[in-house]
Amino acid sequence: KEEYLRKPEWLKIKLNTNENYTGLKKLMRDHKLHTVCEEAKCPNIHECWAVRRTATFMILGSVCTRACRFCAVKTGLPTELDWQEPERVAESVYLMNLKHVVITAVARDDLKDGGAAVFAETVRAVRKKNPFTTIEVLPSDMGGVYENLKTLMDARPDILNHNIETVRRLTPRVRARATYERSLEFLRRAKEMQPDIPTKSSIMIGLGETKEEIIEAMDDLRANYVDIMTIGQYLQPTKKHLKVQKYYHPDEFIELKEIALSKGFSHVEAGPLVRSSYHADEQVNEAAKQ
Ligand code: SF4
Ligand code: SF4
Repeated sequence: KEEYLRKPEWLKIKLNTNENYTGLKKLMRDHKLHTVCEEAKCPNIHECWAVRRTATFMILGSVCTRACRFCAVKTGLPTELDWQEPERVAESVYLMNLKHVVITAVARDDLKDGGAAVFAETVRAVRKKNPFTTIEVLPSDMGGVYENLKTLMDARPDILNHNIETVRRLTPRVRARATYERSLEFLRRAKEMQPDIPTKSSIMIGLGETKEEIIEAMDDLRANYVDIMTIGQYLQPTKKHLKVQKYYHPDEFIELKEIALSKGFSHVEAGPLVRSSYHADEQVNEAAKQ
């Protein structure tokens, strides 16, 4: 029988499903949209949707061409490429009255442009209909084709977020197709293309990394001009995914946050329930002050 670590108390939180949230869920169904918040069963959904008015949309379908070993998104050959999607996202952001929106996408390695054109169009459509909503994009490495990244950066999102996900040594075991070096380069190039747009990256911890390796990841991100870092606890989505090697104590997250801030990031979020898009609304404001 396989042994699993016991979930500590600080991770046992009840999902809050009040009416407001149920209404928003229906809105998603009606608009045929997917949110990471729902699909990843994110524990912050109530706080994000109802209180902070932020959500993470997943565009370009719900089937990914990759199969990262921590991720619950379905793998397969995607078929969807829907030019109406940008408008539907824009409309939903409006109806949800969002202050901040994160737009992410499955990795579309089947498309020549990696989905960049629809992605960029979504940023434009959301901005047009919601001029006061800040927009964060969270693309895959788009096959490492920098023309695709340029298409997206030209749409001028408020934050470019691309996750390295884990430390250097564990990357081949955790991520599919993506490499640590390529992700760092992706972040650096984004900054070179639009120097005034803040860049951001996240790691999940609890996959067997050491503290030194986490610090190395911080240094690598800073060496590639990344402004914002988030660090959260990895949680195993299903039995088929990688096992949790360690549950970090909240105090350890506080320490990591202090170390990261000392490295010069403009904003750091670190905590057991921190996700790439958690408290993102605050990050834009702080980055803007820099
Ligand atoms: Fe959605 Fe991110 Fe908030 Fe989770 S932290 S509910 S994924 S916006
Ligand atoms: Fe999940 Fe992104 Fe990996 Fe696809 S590329 S499996 S969506 S983490």
